Amino acid sequence: MFSKKNLVFLGPPGAGKGTFAKMLVKDLPVPHISTGDIFRHEIKNETPLGLKAKECVESGQLVPDELVTDMVVSRLGQDDCDNGFILDGFPRTLNQADLLKVALVESGKVLDAIVSFECGEEALLERLTARIMCRKCGTSYNKLFAAPKVEGQCDDCGPEGEIYQRKDDSLETATDRLKVYNEQTAPLVDFYKDSGFFIALACERGMDEIYVDLKDALK
Ligand code: AMP
Repeated sequence: MFSKKNLVFLGPPGAGKGTFAKMLVKDLPVPHISTGDIFRHEIKNETPLGLKAKECVESGQLVPDELVTDMVVSRLGQDDCDNGFILDGFPRTLNQADLLKVALVESGKVLDAIVSFECGEEALLERLTARIMCRKCGTSYNKLFAAPKVEGQCDDCGPEGEIYQRKDDSLETATDRLKVYNEQTAPLVDFYKDSGFFIALACERGMDEIYVDLKDALK
């Protein structure tokens, strides 16, 4: 059904990259590699990587390029990425994009699509500050328009899935993250725009409509 399977999801925080990646893997069973999720997991488990990344992640700044790139390259080398992958939140700087390019050439892989999730700042801030998540499975909900069925509990994980707000989704840090995005990540749109595999996806409309367009674009 899908001809494009080696994917990068690009876009500002709150645009929906993670949400649509989680939906897509049900139809396109490839690993969803979210660098943000990996960092949150490492931080929770207080691993050496988590301790190095903690301050940057919690303050909304980017983790140093080498740290995140090494992590992604080693993840892409695992067997389950042979039939495709969704990179969600990587690359996030021009330097990361260059490092990814080299790593893909070395491993004989090519990117099939860069999906650019597009959404205005007002909507992004509204979504980020209303976003809540399951501590166990990482599913995100929204206090305003997609709350869990039982308050404080994940729909999938039940009482074990405690709902919390990410520290970096506070108004102050979310505003900083959008600034970081504009300065360091937005230039990637121009970097990839003429690549021949760039797909722009308008994300200020109903989720079902967006998802149909996403699937069509990956056929
Ligand atoms: P996210 O869940 O994608 O919003 O990522 C949360 C945080 O993880 C970011 O604000 C950064 O601190 C860190 N992070 C995730 N991906 C990257 C990346 N590609 N480069 C640097 N830092 C990252």
